[in-house]
Amino acid sequence: MDLPFRLPMWNISRMNSEAPFLVIGAGPAGSACAWKLASEGCTVVLADRCRFPRQKLCGGALSNYGAELLTERGMLLPSEIEDLVLARHGTFSCYDSLAHLRTFHGGPPEMMLLDRTEFDSFLCRRAVEAGAIFLEEHDFRGFGDKGEALFAGGERIRFQRIVGADGVCSSVRRRAYGRPRGRHGLCLETFVPLSPCVLERFVPQGLQIHFGLLPYGYGWVFPRRDDVCVGVGSFGRSRRPRELAKAAEKLIAHLGLGYKRPMRGALVPPAGGGPLPGRDRVLLAGDAAGLCDRVSGEGISHALESGFLAAEAIIAGTPSWDTRSRCVRQVRDSGRYRHLLYAGPFRALAMKKLRDGDRFMRIYWEIAAGESPYSALLQRRAERMPSAT
Ligand SMILES: Cc1cc2nc3c(=O)[nH]c(=O)nc-3n(C[C@H](O)[C@H](O)[C@H](O)COP(=O)(O)OP(=O)(O)OC[C@H]3O[C@@H](n4cnc5c(N)ncnc54)[C@H](O)[C@@H]3O)c2cc1C
Repeated sequence: MDLPFRLPMWNISRMNSEAPFLVIGAGPAGSACAWKLASEGCTVVLADRCRFPRQKLCGGALSNYGAELLTERGMLLPSEIEDLVLARHGTFSCYDSLAHLRTFHGGPPEMMLLDRTEFDSFLCRRAVEAGAIFLEEHDFRGFGDKGEALFAGGERIRFQRIVGADGVCSSVRRRAYGRPRGRHGLCLETFVPLSPCVLERFVPQGLQIHFGLLPYGYGWVFPRRDDVCVGVGSFGRSRRPRELAKAAEKLIAHLGLGYKRPMRGALVPPAGGGPLPGRDRVLLAGDAAGLCDRVSGEGISHALESGFLAAEAIIAGTPSWDTRSRCVRQVRDSGRYRHLLYAGPFRALAMKKLRDGDRFMRIYWEIAAGESPYSALLQRRAERMPSAT
């Protein structure tokens, strides 16, 4: 992968410019949206406040469903995804309060681990190759008197429709629809470089999921090519950073890593309120639309799907994108079903089920892999999700 790379940029010679379609934020949601619009021959500007390649704090776990969204719609080739994958895991292990519950061999399909800097840059470049005009270091600040988009550098861009794909603290969403309901969740994460022989110790357990470290959240240990990603996240309810830091310290000590590097923190969308797709001139996608799983914190595949859907709504000239879509259903369901895993009376039963047999582990794995809906947790026979396209 030839990174870092410089993307061709649109030269805004005038401070007042016009673009039929404007996408704010070049994460997975924004790049998927801009790529789709550009591939269909639309003129689209993709603006991001960062200079690319930019860093994004994330575990980088991509389900097979997310990968299929990219390949089946034609944005990436399977071989390109393969080049981006740092590690694959078909095994995962669950813990409760640092006690091992069970290890389950679930794959294929396996979970893929990606480096977000590389992945996001690749998607953005693909959008540019399709014809999107990329403006980096363009910080969207709000709407002007005539409804145009205003940027921190003083630029104004008039548009017909705008897509807010500007992440968890979306300015587009705030300006158009107000603040999201509820308090944001919080994650802390670090990457610990390991020698191959130490890394090997982690591989047989695959992806480690640690329940019981903090309420309505979990810790994760993801072995990658040269390091291990260790994090803790509280998705349902906001926790104080100090509580999360303590949980992270416990986890790192348990792993025997003796690692003192500070954790980095990032927000995830609030659990309260359902996803918001936006309508008419202002659509939303990805974290900006609140599309983050309330159980796992997963959001990459939802960002991709909603980005494509927003573009398809613009191309079809419909007021909004379809909220019967899979990403909206899965996120809504995660808001309901999270209590089964995390709320007091059910938590003990869920941990017992994970410990005592493969069935619950399999369902949990299939939900994480995007293969089953949350309702499978309560069904005798697992229901399968529809395919990516
Ligand atoms: C610690 C952590 C670990 C996670 N791990 C996973 C995981 O393993 N798997 C998974 O599926 N999900 C994970 N997630 C969630 C996932 O990272 C997000 O759901 C996903 O990145 C959402 O994509 P997006 O395109 O909506 O937003 P983002 O990827 O956040 O992209 C938004 C873009 O908008 C830009 N932007 C922001 N504001 C402005 C502005 N005002 N003007 C212009 N541009 C702006 C930003 O620079 C950024 O490039 C994790 C989240 C966290 C915090």
